[in-house]
Amino acid sequence: MSATSELTTEQSEQLAAWRALALVIMPYMSAMLFSLRPVQAPGLGTFAVDKHHRLYVDFGAVAPEGARFCAEALLHECCHLFGDHAARAEAFGVGPGEYQQWNVASDLSINDDLRDAGCSELAKIGLLPEKFGLPDDETAEFYMRALADRMPKPPNRGGGNGQGGGCGSGSGAAPEPCEAPGAEASGQVGAGASAAEAENARIATAAHIRQAHGKQPGKVPGGLVEMAGAVLAPPKVPWRQVLAGYMRRCAAVVAGSTDTTYTRRRRRQPSLPLGPGSKVVMPGMVTPKLSIAVVRDTSGSMGQDELAAVMTEIEGIASQLGVSGDDLVVLDVDTEVAAKRKYHGAASIAEAHGRGGTDMGTGIAAAAQLRPRPMAVIVLSDGYTPWPAEKPAVPVIVCLVGEDAERVAHEAPEWAAKVVAT
Ligand SMILES: [Zn+2]
Repeated sequence: MSATSELTTEQSEQLAAWRALALVIMPYMSAMLFSLRPVQAPGLGTFAVDKHHRLYVDFGAVAPEGARFCAEALLHECCHLFGDHAARAEAFGVGPGEYQQWNVASDLSINDDLRDAGCSELAKIGLLPEKFGLPDDETAEFYMRALADRMPKPPNRGGGNGQGGGCGSGSGAAPEPCEAPGAEASGQVGAGASAAEAENARIATAAHIRQAHGKQPGKVPGGLVEMAGAVLAPPKVPWRQVLAGYMRRCAAVVAGSTDTTYTRRRRRQPSLPLGPGSKVVMPGMVTPKLSIAVVRDTSGSMGQDELAAVMTEIEGIASQLGVSGDDLVVLDVDTEVAAKRKYHGAASIAEAHGRGGTDMGTGIAAAAQLRPRPMAVIVLSDGYTPWPAEKPAVPVIVCLVGEDAERVAHEAPEWAAKVVAT
């Protein structure tokens, strides 16, 4: 079976038409739909995705089914990627002998949502929980367990030997024979999405789902709203509390306190007291108007998990402090400022620019130059960066993310407040 990323003009037009129709059905799936990298796969017989967002299409087999069918199939594949079914299958310990069962289980977990969103073709022919006597609105893991005694185990397929016949490795099922092995270009198949690009598409989709649900509750199927909530997990750091505490300290200094012992003592304190029992103070001093600059470390050392953790914290800063637009400027920084954007929801900063070396000092200096000057600069980083020797002109809060956050926290400068987000 030969596969190629080169589509004919007719195939490109067909795909564009199916995508347009899919966008009418589920407009909030746009980031995922546009993240797909089409590959023509004659002989596949259907659609499939790999975890690098390549979409394999047997145009000859699927086009005769009609545009509506194909649009809904695109959405079905997008839901596998949004649900992160490949990673979840791995976490669940799905082995080669269970690929088909997982494919069915993950299909059940998304098809009820697709039916609720108005996918009428899929409602007629797709695998739905009721056909197995199972309830709607459950996870792939739930259906996997429930199916264990309802469907015969398929013969062991020998692990990715090319007889998958399902939705592709992007669903956690067996890789199809046409699939390229990794994210890199292979033969005539172009490169897939990097882990960060894939994560960004999920975050942007989650943000769009949340937005659509906020505007018209009940319009977005519940399973997708839940998944969006999981992707945009609640922030780990109580930003309101951190900032209030920090501003209180600043105010004490500004008030002309001659109690140098007090200020020195506070500066030496390695992190803010955030433990149980600390009071949440919402004082007047963080009003009337907050303006925050966020320096987001986008250097190469920031992996997919760290970037996702940073996104979670930015969401938390925006929602807990009630800032956005002019009052929440996000600078993507590696050794220089790669992007400077006003925050208007997660989707507005989904793409992380930079990915080179690291110097958060550059970002702090650039943030201090912003006009109006931000009330505080929050640096979100894994901590693997040099820091400026001199205290910057603006208050700085360093928030460390990632596995090593605790370990490298002591390397963050004395002049900054430190918070660990793990
Ligand atoms: Zn599927």
